[in-house]
Amino acid sequence: MRIVVYIYFLFSLSILSCSAHNLDIPAMESEKADSFKVSKTEEEWKKILTPEQYYIMRQKGTERPFTGAFWNHKEKGIYACAGCGQKLFRSDIKFESMCGWPSFFDRIDTANLVFVKDTSYGMIRTEVLCGNCGGHLGHIFRDGPPPTWLRYCINSAALQFIPSDEQKLNPSQNSK
Ligand SMILES: [Zn+2]
Repeated sequence: MRIVVYIYFLFSLSILSCSAHNLDIPAMESEKADSFKVSKTEEEWKKILTPEQYYIMRQKGTERPFTGAFWNHKEKGIYACAGCGQKLFRSDIKFESMCGWPSFFDRIDTANLVFVKDTSYGMIRTEVLCGNCGGHLGHIFRDGPPPTWLRYCINSAALQFIPSDEQKLNPSQNSK
């Protein structure tokens, strides 16, 4: 019995080290606000974003799991940044992780995202920012499905959804 507990303990440690392990993705120590194409004052962001979007995207907040608009959203289309409209993820790279936030195993273009080392809450994580406006989107973890084994864990409030043309042309398919 003691051996079983010990093995379980080792297994738990390996999971913890996996999720906290720094990724191969090059992460900057801190983002440089002046390096983003879209740069606004805090007052300007407050006018554009809802209070929840402002809290998440500009103050690095996190929405409660299973509460956002897209964690269980299955329509075909593109997910873009809620702050600047940059296209970030597609519905065909979204997967059901059941973690309560929209999860993607890939992104549209690496250049559209910026990765920053995040040591808050006593954890080492990799934060994901919009590469165009610097808005906080979520975090990336190494527990996703193949072929990337990555999980981009993104706040719904940081995203806006653009339905695919196919759905716009055939709205009757979505009526039921
Ligand atoms: Zn953006």
